[in-house]
Amino acid sequence: MTQFTDWLAEEDRQRRMASLHRDLHHRSPASDTLDLASNDYLGLSRDVRVIAGARSAADTWGAGSTGSRLVTGSTELLRDLESDLASFMGYESALVFSSGYLANLGAVTALAGPDCLIISDQWNHASLIDACRLSRSEVLVAPHVDPETVANLLANRRQPRALIVTDAVFSVDGDLAPLIDLHHVARASGAALLVDEAHSLGVVGPGGKGATTAAGLSGEPDVIATATLSKSLASQGGAILATSEVRSHIINRARSFIFDTALVPAAAGAARVALQVLRQEPQLSDRANVVAAQLRGILHEIGWSSPPPAAAVVSAPIADSALAVLAADTCRESGVLVGCFRPPSVPDGIPRLRLTARANLTEAQLLTTSRALQLARQAVTAAEHAAAHATNTAQSTAESAEGRTT
Ligand code: PMP
Repeated sequence: MTQFTDWLAEEDRQRRMASLHRDLHHRSPASDTLDLASNDYLGLSRDVRVIAGARSAADTWGAGSTGSRLVTGSTELLRDLESDLASFMGYESALVFSSGYLANLGAVTALAGPDCLIISDQWNHASLIDACRLSRSEVLVAPHVDPETVANLLANRRQPRALIVTDAVFSVDGDLAPLIDLHHVARASGAALLVDEAHSLGVVGPGGKGATTAAGLSGEPDVIATATLSKSLASQGGAILATSEVRSHIINRARSFIFDTALVPAAAGAARVALQVLRQEPQLSDRANVVAAQLRGILHEIGWSSPPPAAAVVSAPIADSALAVLAADTCRESGVLVGCFRPPSVPDGIPRLRLTARANLTEAQLLTTSRALQLARQAVTAAEHAAAHATNTAQSTAESAEGRTT
C-alpha cells in the first residue's frame, strides 16, 4: 500500500529531477517585465475602451451571470456578442461558453459519440485531446498536418460518422493546419471538420477574421469552428461558430454548456468591444504578424532556429528541459517573460522557448527582447559546453581507472 503523502512526495521528486517542475510566478500590475508569454496578440487587454466595455456590462448585468443560460435565461449582451462573432467570422450563428476549453469540450462531445470516429491531429491542443477522450468515440491520432493519412483512416472506418478535429494554428510551433485539404477529405467521406481558431482569430485571414474564413470554409454546413475570447479578444470565454442547426444541437447536448454558469457579463462586454476595435482597426492584425516575423528574425540572428510563424506564435526548440528553463530564467532576469514549454506540453517531447507577438510591441521593446535572447543563448551555450566538458572528464577518468585495473 502506498501512502498518499509518500506518493505526492515521490511525484514532486521525479518532476524536479527531470526539470519538469512548475511554479507559479508572482505577477504584479505595476510590473515592468516585458511580457512575451501572453496571448494578448492585439495588445487590447489594457485598452481603455475594452476595459470600459467590461465595466459597462458589469454595471448593467451584474458581477456574475448567476446561472446556466438554460436556467436563468439568456441576456441581450450574450445574444449581441454571438451575433457579432458570427458575422465577423462568416458563420450563421455562434454560441458562447465560459472558456475556450469548455467550448472545445462541448463541441466535440456533442458532435461525436460512440457511432462517430474522431481523427485528431497529433499536435492538437490539450482541450481538444480531453474533448476527444470525453466523447466516448474511437479516436485515431493522425500524424501532424497529414491529410492523406486522415483520408485513409476515414476510408477504412467502421463507424457511420466521423469528425476531423484540428487546431487552425498549432499552439506549440505556430504552424497552420492544411484546412482546405482537410475539408476536401472530410467532405469526400461525409465527415465534419472542427477547427479550433484559438490562435487564428484576430491574426489570420483578412482583418483577422480567422483561418476558416481565409480558407473560404466559414459558413460551410460541415465546418464548425471554436474560438477563445481570451487571446486576440483580450477577455475570457469561448465560442462555437456553426450553422444554427449545429448551435441548437449543442445547446441541447453539450454538458459544458448546459451545466456551466454562463459567461460572466464583464468578459462578454470586453470581448464585444475588442471585436469592434478589431473591425475598426484591421491593421492590428497585420501588425501582430509583422512583430511575429521580427521576433523570429531576432532568433535567427543569434543562431536559434525557429519555424516561420503563421500567426503570432513564435517558437524556438531547445535540446532539453533544463536548458529551456535556464534560457527562460535568463530572459526573465533580463526583464523579458517568455514561455517555456516542456513535456507534457510538447507533443514531440522537444522543449521550446515560446514567444508571442503583440501588435503594440515597440522597437525599443524588440531591442530589449533581442538583448535578453542573446544572454539566454550565451547561457545555454555555456551550459552545453560545461556538460560536454564534464562528460569528457568522466570518460577519461573511467578510461584511466580501467587502464590501472587491467
Ligand atoms: N485551444 C487552444 C489551441 C488554446 O491554445 C487554448 C488556450 N491556451 C484553448 C483552446 C483554451 O482556451 P481558453 O483559455 O479560453 O480556455
